[in-house]
Amino acid sequence: MNKEMTMLKKMKHTMKRGLINKENLKAVHDDDLEGFLKNISLYQNITSGKTRCKFCGEKITISNLYAVFPDSGTINVVCNNKSCIPQFLDYSGRVQ
Ligand SMILES: [Zn+2]
Repeated sequence: MNKEMTMLKKMKHTMKRGLINKENLKAVHDDDLEGFLKNISLYQNITSGKTRCKFCGEKITISNLYAVFPDSGTINVVCNNKSCIPQFLDYSGRVQ
């Protein structure tokens, strides 16, 4: 299996789970994280410090953003804190 196929498979799996994280975004959109966040109207909130991590309440910035995910009709975010990532994975697993 070539690299492109692997990436596509990974992306499909991610989309199925409703998870979008920085690694996947980078793989698919290069460095268009800003464009993506603007698309979902999250960029403004993040750059103005209005967005907080669902789990620890830490202020989300472009550099500590770990993932963006749908959460009961809204879009939530999680920071890259070592204690938040496992909580996020557990949470997203339970939601599905
Ligand atoms: Zn957090």
